[in-house]
Amino acid sequence: MKNFEKSKRLFVEAQRYLPGGVDSPVRAYKSVGGTPLFIVRGKGARIFDADGNEFIDCVGSWGPLVLGHAHLQVVSALKKVAENGTSFGAPTELETTLAKMVTQAMPFIEMVRFVSSGTEATMSALRLARAFTRRDKIVKFDGGYHGHSDGLLARGGSGMATLGIPDSPGVPAGYAQNTLIAPYNNVGAVEQLFQHYPGQIAAVIIEPVAANMGVVLPQPGFLESLRKLTSKAGALLIFDEVITGFRLAYGGAQSVFGIKPDLTCLGKIIGGGLPVGAYGGRRDIMSLIAPLGPVYQAGTLSGNPLAMTAGIETLKVLSQPGVYEQLETKCAALEKGIAVAAREAGVPVQVHRIGSLLTAFFTRGKVVDYETAKKSDTTLFARFFWQMLENGVYWPPSQFEAAFVSLAHTEEDIKTIIDAVSRALLSLTATR
Ligand SMILES: *Cc1c(COP(=O)(O)O)cnc(C)c1O
Repeated sequence: MKNFEKSKRLFVEAQRYLPGGVDSPVRAYKSVGGTPLFIVRGKGARIFDADGNEFIDCVGSWGPLVLGHAHLQVVSALKKVAENGTSFGAPTELETTLAKMVTQAMPFIEMVRFVSSGTEATMSALRLARAFTRRDKIVKFDGGYHGHSDGLLARGGSGMATLGIPDSPGVPAGYAQNTLIAPYNNVGAVEQLFQHYPGQIAAVIIEPVAANMGVVLPQPGFLESLRKLTSKAGALLIFDEVITGFRLAYGGAQSVFGIKPDLTCLGKIIGGGLPVGAYGGRRDIMSLIAPLGPVYQAGTLSGNPLAMTAGIETLKVLSQPGVYEQLETKCAALEKGIAVAAREAGVPVQVHRIGSLLTAFFTRGKVVDYETAKKSDTTLFARFFWQMLENGVYWPPSQFEAAFVSLAHTEEDIKTIIDAVSRALLSLTATR
């Protein structure tokens, strides 16, 4: 058994000063139980905890670290930039450089505004969509996560298409009422909402591949139908590509599926491990943003040189040929390895993967939306998670999150992960 004593002590201390001992809830391991590991160092595909344990990391800071931890090119560029000052509250050329890279990677983004988190990006994109359409309501999907701004913390009831109810105390019911909820992959439910609220819906916001209820792929035709429905109704289609942007392909999910969203939200990878978000899209819409137009949105540290540099260097590496093929090959091997291991262990698991995003749902049934994802056996998953740690792999501490493969993972690492999965699954059946 691995020793986690120092992490346990650090967690006790942290809880005296930080609510729940953390700055973001999933880090507290609530859904797998036990004490979170305190990390002291990361290098490439590996992280090291306070007790000196070493793990192959399959979280990658929840998405940003597609190059792995402490990538040499990113770190050395950051050091150089930091020595010349970290923020000026005035323009620097780095912002234009990254903006150019983003617009070249995603041609439907004609102009882009940088912010400091994915939450800010989606929140601001919705404000913009409402201003542009002069409508108040938005549609989101049950189990879709777009950051924690008030209007987006709404969940559907059990019906086909529902009025949002606040998902958190502190969210005014009035806000949530402007958020309409449909099940993922359910075109009929979205149609119903457009019929029910004619001329009132400003935008449909969606993760083109859902990755915050576990990885759930859009069924063929789903995204196309949303494009048609929104265009017909004069509403905007907003792709939240905070996870998928520069992850599924250099051009994001929109290039993979060939869909043109009106606005796109980015984050995670474009910050290369530093706090960055962005929203962008059609020039006529983006022109409404202050100071060009009347829609206010600002940020003291937005586009600061450190954040821009981490993004620029990360994108430089990702724009090299063969990079996404490498990610595909590695994660496909992982997908196959998990499926085989599950079959051999007799544990019902649905492995969902696209590019370097993967979730193994512990369920027998097909997963197409949040309702079906929730049928997973989270107790079994929790035991799997702790077994993975014992076997030297840091798997996401929640059934409903994606595992991330990076360029730093070697073929050997993938084999080690599969081996760990196999042993973890066998130990579950042995003691059942
Ligand atoms: C992580 C995430 C966000 C929120 O980004 P933060 O930087 O954590 O605020 C928004 N949308 C999606 C799809 C995400 O995965």
